[in-house]
Amino acid sequence: MSKKLSAKELEDYEQRLRALLAVVTGDIDKLEQEALGENALPTEASPDGGSDYFQEFSLQLLERDETTVREIMSALDRIKAGSYGSCEACGDPILKERLKLMPHARNCIECQRKEEEGLL
Ligand SMILES: [Zn+2]
Repeated sequence: MSKKLSAKELEDYEQRLRALLAVVTGDIDKLEQEALGENALPTEASPDGGSDYFQEFSLQLLERDETTVREIMSALDRIKAGSYGSCEACGDPILKERLKLMPHARNCIECQRKEEEGLL
């Protein structure tokens, strides 16, 4: 039995993914400035810290390349399809700690490691 993400969590990840997508596609100057704490503009963000996404990411770690864009897009597709949060390789739920750092992760940590070692 895999533990499903709640609708609220899915919504939260979807917002993170959209924000990330804006970052990697470069469509972002305003948001990026906010992330860096400069020039923060008033936004329609929710009072419970809706504009804090970027502070949880390390922008340096984020690769601004096409692979990342594709992975974010496919994560958004998986949210729509209802399969978001499960490892594509083994079907196990991906740890929430991992999804928070990398909401576009396709694999659980174990499968990711295997993939990096060329075992998949
Ligand atoms: Zn896996």
